Amino acid sequence: MKQSQLFTKIKKEIPSGEVAKNAQLLLQAGFIHKEMAGVYSFLPLGLRVIEKIKHVIRKELNNAGCQEMSMTSLQSKDIWKKTGRWSDDVVDNCFKTSLKNGTELGLAFSHEEPVAQIMANYVHSYKDLPFSAYQFQTKFRNELRAKSGIMRGREFLMKDLYSFHVDKKAHDEFYEKMKGVYMEIFRKLGLGGNTYLTMSSGVPFSKYSFEFQTISEAGEDVILFDKEKKVAINKDDFSDEIFVDFGLNKDDYVFEEAKSIEIGDIYSLGTKYSEAIDLTYADAEGKSHPVFMGSYGIGVPRVMGTVVEVYNDEDGIIWPEEVAPFAVHLISLCKGDAEKGVVEKVYKQLISHNIDVLYDDRSNVSAGQKFAESDKIGIPHRVIMSPKTIANNTFEYKKRSEKDAKYMSFDALLRIISKTY
Ligand code: ATP
Ligand code: MG
Repeated sequence: MKQSQLFTKIKKEIPSGEVAKNAQLLLQAGFIHKEMAGVYSFLPLGLRVIEKIKHVIRKELNNAGCQEMSMTSLQSKDIWKKTGRWSDDVVDNCFKTSLKNGTELGLAFSHEEPVAQIMANYVHSYKDLPFSAYQFQTKFRNELRAKSGIMRGREFLMKDLYSFHVDKKAHDEFYEKMKGVYMEIFRKLGLGGNTYLTMSSGVPFSKYSFEFQTISEAGEDVILFDKEKKVAINKDDFSDEIFVDFGLNKDDYVFEEAKSIEIGDIYSLGTKYSEAIDLTYADAEGKSHPVFMGSYGIGVPRVMGTVVEVYNDEDGIIWPEEVAPFAVHLISLCKGDAEKGVVEKVYKQLISHNIDVLYDDRSNVSAGQKFAESDKIGIPHRVIMSPKTIANNTFEYKKRSEKDAKYMSFDALLRIISKTY
């Protein structure tokens, strides 16, 4: 894409009224627009990052045999009533609305009820199980506080996966597998190094759940973690008794404490929803049982915000390869038509190698401003073409994460970019 055509512009100052670093940096570089507290629009650069994150998640889940679908965000009051979740005393953060005829509706804060209802149409016998289905869908939550930028939205995109098994044993096997799948997703998203599988208290029907917590000063949670053993516990749940429950011996671990961001979580739901919604199957003898369910969430903008919180410096964002809006920022410092033509050709060549390029083709902007803006956008590979590099038949290359530039041939450049991209 040509930068001259990008409708977003870099702001000189960090927009006022935003306290979270992730939102400050993303607003300044034109990735997002703030509609109101906790409500953000994703502009072209921001949407590219969201799509990259979705791509990583989708690939791993499809590999694990999960099926993608999409459910509605308007939900019927009747199904929430069946599980007791219509009551504000039970769920205190849902938005509700009504049709013109007065029928009350809920705006999805989660999708356990509708997914169980849908599956009741298709699950009859043990032969119809197991399977798992997921979606990327908007959730609405009337969050009390929205001070963490895109990490805590009142409207946000969640990847939610639901699993359906005959019993706890079959479920547990899948649940264990998903822990690995989640870790692989977070590793690919650049968050592997400081993300911990964290034991946390459960919901009334299961003793505990697991969260994926990324260590960051911007976090709203606090975890105790053992770096070597890669074990962590949410501080809220830290007591001698959740150790016993988790089957751990406290003396075997050396814990450090840190603030952290919950980027995902996994729950064993048991038969709470299937019983309420009447999602049952007949076993080989024809006896009826409720289906054993699990749910597995990842907040897509929360992941994006976390990446920004983890990867930035005083000059701006530093995107990891897998989630960067573009792989290469091609910056032209050429003014003459002949030289501009050479840069244009390189731009097209990179594209022909399936490389995503943001091409700063603007001729009315100084080199200094171009570099400063490039740092703010944070694309991992920067290629500079000037009259001098063209005359020398070379390319100036700099990684966003490194200080020094190198000079190299086009082939060498391609090798570096294609290796990591
Ligand atoms: P939290 O404790 O942070 O409020 P939660 O445990 O209530 O989150 P879940 O209902 O388990 O959240 O949602 C699954 C995932 O969705 C979370 O692990 C988190 O990554 C993400 N998420 C939850 N709430 C938000 C939000 N308001 N904005 C963005 N992402 C969110
Ligand atoms: Mg959670």
